[in-house]
Parts: sequence; structure tokens; C-alpha cells
Amino acid sequence: MANDLFATPEHESFRRTARQFVEQELRPRAREFDAMGRIDKSLYKRMGELGFLGLRYDSRWGGSGLDWTFTAVLFEELGRCDNAGVTMGISVQTDMATPSLHRFGSDALREQYLAPAIRGEQVTAIAVTEPGAGSDVAGIKTRAVRDGDDWVINGSKIYITNAATADWLCLLAVTDPSAGYGGFSQIIVPTDAPGFRYELLDKIGNWGSDTGQLYFEDVRVPVANTIGEIGRGFQQQMAQFQDERLIACVSTTAGSLHLWEETRKWAEQRVLFGKPLAKMQVTQFKFVEMLTQITAARELYYACIRQVIAGEDATQLISMAKLFCGRTSRMVADHCIQLYGGYGYMKESPAGRAFVDSRLVSIGGGSDETMIHYLAKQLGF
Ligand SMILES: Cc1cc2nc3c(=O)[nH]c(=O)nc-3n(C[C@H](O)[C@H](O)[C@H](O)COP(=O)(O)OP(=O)(O)OC[C@H]3O[C@@H](n4cnc5c(N)ncnc54)[C@H](O)[C@@H]3O)c2cc1C
Repeated sequence: MANDLFATPEHESFRRTARQFVEQELRPRAREFDAMGRIDKSLYKRMGELGFLGLRYDSRWGGSGLDWTFTAVLFEELGRCDNAGVTMGISVQTDMATPSLHRFGSDALREQYLAPAIRGEQVTAIAVTEPGAGSDVAGIKTRAVRDGDDWVINGSKIYITNAATADWLCLLAVTDPSAGYGGFSQIIVPTDAPGFRYELLDKIGNWGSDTGQLYFEDVRVPVANTIGEIGRGFQQQMAQFQDERLIACVSTTAGSLHLWEETRKWAEQRVLFGKPLAKMQVTQFKFVEMLTQITAARELYYACIRQVIAGEDATQLISMAKLFCGRTSRMVADHCIQLYGGYGYMKESPAGRAFVDSRLVSIGGGSDETMIHYLAKQLGF
């Protein structure tokens, strides 16, 4: 069992604080964020005050210096907020757009961009996917050309979470088209830079955070905004994807467990043919099957976290977990929407929301096929 790593008194105390925040401050605003189509920036500020936005980061930049288990506890609780879009937007800030900066950025960059993100004063986005290249990351075309001490950036990114709310982007751009995998760099782009604009996109789910297309027309940023070494952007982004995928596993599996619990309550109250739905054996079998899958998904991401904490390369296990957790969440949402019947098809029903929200997990942050493609190569096929 995972208790040794995840259930110390410190974890329990932290979980209580996170749960209280979700119950009292986040869930009551979940529908407000849906209506806005984005997370209100005050939420980041509040989470920064509570120390939630830099759990693994160095105290020099305002972080808490904790290990991945605390990140998991936070997102197990955030995953229960009934708004997957909000959880995703927050995870972009904590685990998708900032890990590279923390790991490879200069002190000056970390002071200027990481510290305010940890305080919740600035919102971040990760800009990798383009209209012509998603799974094939090396196929991106957004170009940063050096002009003296500046990069001049031209191109476009698509499906970018926090597009409208971000104060800065962690951008992956081509800096040397002749250098193959050594020709990409990660560059911080402030969204108030002249030549930058965005357009919002209309999604079928994840309504609580914004997603957009970004345009760069002769956007100038200092070369000093490069995260880490020029030319190492592809490799750094591949490393950053591991945090992104692991956090997706945690929050989506937590969301599935929450949905399972809510659906069980529903099935215990909903009476048909003279007895509660939950008393029908076929229903009980469904619940048991779902919980078995959810438990397996959770054990899989626990195993990933153990490897990460041990300093081992967890890429293979994280890829398997991303594949399995995504599929589990889709399966659970599908069974739950069925158990709710007509109400499940209503937008306000937790199962209806989960049905569209969970579909993203097998697409975003590396699709199921991307995970399988990588694993097949690793296994020598
Ligand atoms: C709501 C939302 C939020 C997002 N947020 C962000 C964000 O913040 N930042 C960001 O950079 N991106 C973001 N994305 C983009 C997401 O990561 C990409 O959509 C994803 O990587 C897939 O890329 P693609 O859409 O270009 O599809 P494609 O790469 O064109 O894939 C098309 C199909 O081919 C499949 N495929 C892939 N590889 C193989 C293979 N080897 N063999 C056979 N089939 C294969 C894919 O799985 C898919 O089914 C977001 C997407 C969505 C929908």
C-alpha cells in the first residue's frame, strides 16, 4: 500500500488544508469560472498565499521544497472540485509551464518570472502545440531568430490553456532549423510584448479554463529570456512533459474517484422498480469494476511518484500511467453517465461534465497513441 509515503501526519495535515480550500473557496466558485470561461486571477493569488503554487520549488523563489507526494495530495484534493477545467488551469501554473524554469532557468529569470508565479501574482501558460504539429513536437515551425541581444519570434500556437489569462508563456520555438533536435529553445514570452495576440477557442468541455490560439508577429524578447541552454529546448520540454503527464494522472484519477462516490450516492437514492438502483446486482458489479480500475490507476501513479522521488527515470511508467489513467477516467465517466440516466446527460450533472472533460485526458499532454508509440519503441519494437 501507499501509506508509507503518502499518509504521514504531515500529509494528513496538508490534505486537510487543501480539502478545506477546495470545499470552502474553490467549489463554491466553480460555476462562476465556467460562466467566465476562465479562472479568475484572484484564485491564483489566494493559492499563492496558501503556498500551493510552488510546493516542489526552492524556497529561494518562494517555494516549499517538498517532494512529489505533496503535489499529489494537493491535486487529489483539487481533482474533487467538480471543475476539471479549473484543475487543469492550475496544474499548468504549477506543473506544466514552470518546471523547466525552476530546473534550468537563470537566477535572474527565476526571480523575475518564477517567484511571481509561485506567489500567484502572474499566470503562466505552456505553448508547444501548433496548428501543424501536436504529437510530432519536433515538427513545430514557430521560429525565433536572433537579432543582437533579442529573439524575434514569428509563428502560431494552438489549443493553449490559460491563453487569455497568462502573463507569460513558456514557449518552445525553433532557434536553429539545421540542428535537428538541437535546434529548439524554451523562451519566456511576456504576453504584453508587442506583436503578441490570442483568439479564444470554443471547447466541448473543461469550461472553467480558457483555451486559445496564439499569434506571434515579430515579437521581440531578450535572448536572456531563454530557459537553460540555447538549443536544449526539445530535451527540456520532454522532461517537463513528465511532470505534466504525472499531474494529469493524479488529478484525473482523483476526479474519477470523486465521481464514483457521487454516483454511488445517487444510485442509493434513485428508486426504480421498487428498489434503489444500488440494490440491483448489475449496478453493484459496475461500481466494483470501476473502483478496481480507479485503484489500479492510483497505484500506478503512486509507483511513478516513488520512482521520481528515488531519482530514477520514470518516463516509461509515467507513459503507461498516462495511458491507463486517461482510459480509466473515460470508462468511469461513461459508466456513471449511464447510471445517472437522463440527468447524466444534463450539463449540470457531474457525470455529464466528466463525460466531456475526461475525453481530453487521452488527447492532451501526449495522446494515448503518443504514449503507445513511445512505449513500443522503448520495448524494442
Ligand atoms: C483543451 C485542450 C487544452 C490543451 N492545452 C495545451 C497547452 O496548454 N499547451 C500545449 O502546447 N498544447 C495544449 N493542447 C494540445 C494537445 O497537447 C494536443 O492536441 C495533442 O498533443 C495532440 O496533438 P494534435 O491535436 O496536433 O493532434 P495530432 O498530433 O495531429 O494527432 C492526430 C491523431 O493522431 C494520433 N497519433 C499520434 N501519434 C500517432 C502515431 N505514432 N501513430 C498513429 N496515430 C498517432 C493522435 O493520438 C491523434 O489521435 C491542448 C489541447 C486541448 C484539446
